[in-house]
Amino acid sequence: MSNETKVYETVIGLEVHAQLSTRSKMFCGCPTTFGAEPNTQTCPVCLGMPGALPVINRRAIELAVRTALAFECRVNPSCRFARKHYYYPDMPKNFQISQYEEPLAEDGGLEIDLPGGVSRRIGIQRLHLEEDVGKLVHEGTLETAHASLVDYNRSGVPLMETVSHPDLRSPEEAAIYLRAFRAVLVYLGVCDGNMEEGSLRCDANVSLRLRGATELGTKVEIKNLNSFRNVQRALEFEVERQARALDAGERIVQETRLWDADRGYTRSMRSKESAHDYRYFPEPDLVPLEISRAWVDAIRAGLPELPRARRQRFVTQYGLPPYDAGVLTQARALAEYHEQATAALKRAAPSLTLGQAAKSTSNWIMSELLHVLPADDEAAIREAKITPSRLAGLLKLIENGTISGKIAKDVFQKMFASGEDAQAIVAREGLVQVADESALAAVIDQVIAENPKALEDYRKGKTAAKGAFVGQIMKATQGKANPAMVNRLLEEKLSKI
Ligand SMILES: [Zn+2]
Repeated sequence: MSNETKVYETVIGLEVHAQLSTRSKMFCGCPTTFGAEPNTQTCPVCLGMPGALPVINRRAIELAVRTALAFECRVNPSCRFARKHYYYPDMPKNFQISQYEEPLAEDGGLEIDLPGGVSRRIGIQRLHLEEDVGKLVHEGTLETAHASLVDYNRSGVPLMETVSHPDLRSPEEAAIYLRAFRAVLVYLGVCDGNMEEGSLRCDANVSLRLRGATELGTKVEIKNLNSFRNVQRALEFEVERQARALDAGERIVQETRLWDADRGYTRSMRSKESAHDYRYFPEPDLVPLEISRAWVDAIRAGLPELPRARRQRFVTQYGLPPYDAGVLTQARALAEYHEQATAALKRAAPSLTLGQAAKSTSNWIMSELLHVLPADDEAAIREAKITPSRLAGLLKLIENGTISGKIAKDVFQKMFASGEDAQAIVAREGLVQVADESALAAVIDQVIAENPKALEDYRKGKTAAKGAFVGQIMKATQGKANPAMVNRLLEEKLSKI
């Protein structure tokens, strides 16, 4: 590690752009489906034809208010859209309808949990709405392309921008904030959080200052951060770069830099514009938007339990270790899966305490389910063939001694693939655990008789020989022998020899 952490303090703020999960665009009725044939979801409004007039999407406002409330922002009773002017071929009007001086909401925050059990509130400065721009598709790389194509399907998709205060102090904290931020949006159902498809995009502002200094250093904006890992890597690179420049007595230039994930470095894209370069002015085609108190209250009343509250509840209600609670609540579908499976297991095996049932399902979700499904794939978890009640059915069979934990792992794989109940698979394949004392005793006698060498070793005091017997017994029963019973019976037999 360079000396930046000793001499300099890192100051980071994030701007997150989230596409809202509305069916139609921000200012027209075109659909927002991802992946449609290029330029099939357009109309005169989102193509920026002269004279076409925008109409505000009520649902987009509702989702933005929902988010603003979850981040404890003040929702302004009145806000206004503004034109932000610049030229780029992905934006046919040469201005973007955004919000500037009068945003939808301001002054909120998000509590994040840092390593070591500390939590900190990261301030949220503002939350506003704007329209997304089209997408340029280059034939080949940006440098080698002979032609670039533009797809306006994305033009006009509702985009919610949330700007944090520069409260983050390391690249790791920035990644933690972004994860927590994404989890809230997904819990709220306002954005699918898919960074690969660009539904969630992040720009970072980063500067260094001497430790103890109160004034901020010159900031650099990094664009094109399309994964949690890239946010952290790009910021780590940039912090190092700035520290080295400052050490060498250079001045940091205020600019926008692009993160190149393949090559692992940031490069200068353009010198940073100031707000006045955009010639913002109120959008003359839209009247100021009044948001009634009653509507805000109704939206507030419909807010779901948020990830952090749910994580805390998993610890207090189920007695789960904080680590388990953190893994299980990172996505809404996963948290719901765990709660449903736990409730089903508690019903199926009433002798278990709620805490035991919760820990058992947690173990199986973490070791088996998340081994085959990504935790943040909400749809895959909701549609998993091994449903919460089927998982509970499997765990009940372990609990009542019908099958061993080892056999259960194979049954889990089969259930995952076929969607059958555990009971059906176990019955068909004859996997029921052998827990019949006389049957097991006969197997043990036979194994001892067939392995005189191991018996000899055992008599010489080699305890490993006992393990060899257990292995042979499990093999003879195709892994179905009840392990505790095998150990006890074997112990008894050997003590008499
Ligand atoms: Zn349109």
